[in-house]
Amino acid sequence: MEIVKNASLGPVRVDGLDSNWPTQVDPLQDGISSVELIRVSGSDIDIVNAARVSFGKITTKIEPKDDKLIRYLLRHLHTSPFEHNQLSFRIKTPLFVARQWMRHRMNSYNEISYRYVKSKLEFYIPADWRYQDQDNRQASFGKFQDEELLNKYQVALQQASQAYNDLLEAGVCREQARGLLPLCTYTEFIFTCNLHSFMHFIKLRTAAGAQWEIQVFAQAMLDLARPYFPVALDEWQKICSEQGL
Ligand SMILES: Cc1cc2nc3c(=O)[nH]c(=O)nc-3n(C[C@H](O)[C@H](O)[C@H](O)COP(=O)(O)OP(=O)(O)OC[C@H]3O[C@@H](n4cnc5c(N)ncnc54)[C@H](O)[C@@H]3O)c2cc1C
Repeated sequence: MEIVKNASLGPVRVDGLDSNWPTQVDPLQDGISSVELIRVSGSDIDIVNAARVSFGKITTKIEPKDDKLIRYLLRHLHTSPFEHNQLSFRIKTPLFVARQWMRHRMNSYNEISYRYVKSKLEFYIPADWRYQDQDNRQASFGKFQDEELLNKYQVALQQASQAYNDLLEAGVCREQARGLLPLCTYTEFIFTCNLHSFMHFIKLRTAAGAQWEIQVFAQAMLDLARPYFPVALDEWQKICSEQGL
């Protein structure tokens, strides 16, 4: 996975973090898709302090006993201390991925509107085809190349693009013309969550049963967020692997 550094927008950084740490990734590696971490507030210390407020205590520096506390919280599903922080990402992904993504309701979203602007007609073209899984009706397996199928896919995209442009040129409004946009059309949105909801999303969407295209977005977000919550995300991942997740 190629990781590029974003020179313009950068998240609020926690002390001691390498300022060269990447903030943007192209998960589908097609030069169009993007996950950009645009803002982070909070850190492992805030998780510890949220838990210790019960005892009227405040911590200013993470110590080994705090790792233990974070692990305890995660193991006993004491989830609320993981909610006093915020991660915001700017996402560019095909519509069919966004459709799955926005089923996760405990987050905030704002998306580009093809009522307001004309679509740039950027499409996701899979690098490989996958076979339909015969047992799990949602799933796919394997991969193969087929130039003829790729050609059919691209011709269909050209026809859809042409028809979309024709309708707009004939004076049809954008909100109706967009009905012709295929599900592989790229959309953009801002996704904001807290670490509790983030871990829930990542667990569900990096699992083998999730569609590969959303899996790579979830993995990219985890990679970008890891340095901001190193203890919590490390402990959480250990628990996930112990549970075979
Ligand atoms: C592999 C996979 C396949 C899927 N396939 C389908 C499918 O075929 N069709 C389909 O419709 N969806 C499908 N989904 C979406 C799935 O049903 C969930 O909507 C999605 O994963 C979001 O999960 P969530 O509700 O836990 O997350 P969030 O919406 O972020 O909610 C987080 C948590 O808050 C609580 N919560 C949120 N809303 C409510 C509520 N109304 N009532 C009570 N508790 C609530 C729950 O504890 C929930 O786990 C699929 C998801 C995955 C991962």
